Amino acid sequence: MATLTCYGAVNEIGGNKILLEDGERRVLFDFGKAFGRYADFFDGVFIKERVGRGLLDLLALGLLPPLRGLLREDLIPGLDPSGLDVQTLEPTGRQRKARERVTLQPQAVESFWSHWQGSVPVPFRDLRRENAPPVDLVLLSHAHQDHIGALEYVAAEVPAASTAITAFISKVLIDAGMSTSGAPFSAPRTPRPDGMLESQRGAPLAARPWVFLDRPPAGTPGDDPLGDAAAFWAYAGTKTLVPQAGAVPSGMHVRHWPVDHSLFGAAGFAVETGAGWVAYSGDIRCHGSHGQATWDFAEALGELRPTVLLCEGTRLTQTNTTTESTVLDRCLETVRGHAGRLVVADFAPRNVERLQTFHRIAQETKRRLLIQPRDAYLLRAMHLADPDAVPDLMADAHIGLYDDPKVSEYDWERLVRQRYEAETVSPQEVQRAPGQVLLAFSLTDAPDMLDLAFLMGGRTEGVYLFSNSPAYDDEQRVDLVRLYHWTQHLGLGLVGLAPVRDAQETVVDLKPVPGYHASGHAGGDDLVEFVRRARPMTLVPIHTEAPERWAERLRGTGINIVRPELGVPIQF
Ligand SMILES: [Zn+2]
Repeated sequence: MATLTCYGAVNEIGGNKILLEDGERRVLFDFGKAFGRYADFFDGVFIKERVGRGLLDLLALGLLPPLRGLLREDLIPGLDPSGLDVQTLEPTGRQRKARERVTLQPQAVESFWSHWQGSVPVPFRDLRRENAPPVDLVLLSHAHQDHIGALEYVAAEVPAASTAITAFISKVLIDAGMSTSGAPFSAPRTPRPDGMLESQRGAPLAARPWVFLDRPPAGTPGDDPLGDAAAFWAYAGTKTLVPQAGAVPSGMHVRHWPVDHSLFGAAGFAVETGAGWVAYSGDIRCHGSHGQATWDFAEALGELRPTVLLCEGTRLTQTNTTTESTVLDRCLETVRGHAGRLVVADFAPRNVERLQTFHRIAQETKRRLLIQPRDAYLLRAMHLADPDAVPDLMADAHIGLYDDPKVSEYDWERLVRQRYEAETVSPQEVQRAPGQVLLAFSLTDAPDMLDLAFLMGGRTEGVYLFSNSPAYDDEQRVDLVRLYHWTQHLGLGLVGLAPVRDAQETVVDLKPVPGYHASGHAGGDDLVEFVRRARPMTLVPIHTEAPERWAERLRGTGINIVRPELGVPIQF
């Protein structure tokens, strides 16, 4: 007998944290952020979880499951000063002042955890084990934050496994996001005398043991972090990072397959248990250029006859009408229609497939796609991770780096600018020949367009091509309205979004115009066909707001459906 416990992705899109237990074996499928529930309390900008309070805010709001042993002990805050031991250390060497070493007393640790016993909605569990990490392996399907984003709260001793691309993107998210902690490593914290947690300057980072399922980082850690994969994996700016190699525990059978999604490196999994194979879809689609990989995954599962399939259902109630090739056609048409003028292309560069679409458009229209330093950093990392899957795009004459002015540069940014100095294009060069570039900008880069507008004499007289995800919540809707104001101010025609006006003619929302964006998720018909081909005995619907719809869609197939509840084990 084995059990599955969903600590997220239950009646929600994202937040996947699924624990599989088979006797002594424990595996987690993903450990992501639940953005929907997070947004009930936080906006992530002005209202955020307090870093100095470690686990407290997220546990208190049910955004992290209270799993003792799995979550980092160094993130237990000292709320009661009587639970802190403060020791004064005399200055040594070149230090001038005495320092304080603060530790949390064992009884303070106990009382922190006992606080969550009987907690709702997710029950407390103690996962500590004598001679093993609390969980043997976290299998990461892909590097979207709703799948990996909460791993920074998981003890560094817990190994993770993923494709090389997923591993490297997860590191880029720390490096270029200027965070100190994330999936592959974290900066350990200690309490101050007032109980707030802080990371110690100069302390080495805690690296998570990592299993590279497809290809380990090639090369040797050297002077150039962007020179080879091993050097990139060990790079942490001025901090010390010693990568740890992980291993799949002996006797554990894990299989992985590449799948099509809006992020390269995405994979699906199957783990063998005493009760048969347990399969996990991750996020999938079938209408991208690697759609066949998803069908191959389904066929392979069909041969395993999984006891349980955990399958996403993001777009179970929708159909996909736009494919990636439609996006190419429509966007190419738009760029062709604006010959000689400025074109701004708004897409998620992490979606390399879309980037390749715009690269092709640049080639066909004799323009140069100009990307931001953070995107060039990401592209380089993905290329180092898997040169077969991601070509060295920056080597092509039709891609360059946009030289947006910066007062100060981060370490990673300096590396990028040095590496691509010869491929850098300045705002003045864009002003001289706006019809020869394609700017890969998004709303966050909008202020940089004021430079261009100034240089171009006030207005840019071009087009803003929106080839990105539609708004999913109110905050994203507000952002799209902001984007609309920017395009109006800059004199850019807006393509791909249609303004919605209220009775006073004020733009209150923007609806996507079909044809300019292909979703990262399979539509309902493809999802149903995927599950039919995978032939599981039981389907556990996850990552969907409409789990009840699976019953009618799978009628007559004989596939049993078990709907998960947050934190409640499913036995099979
Ligand atoms: Zn995803």
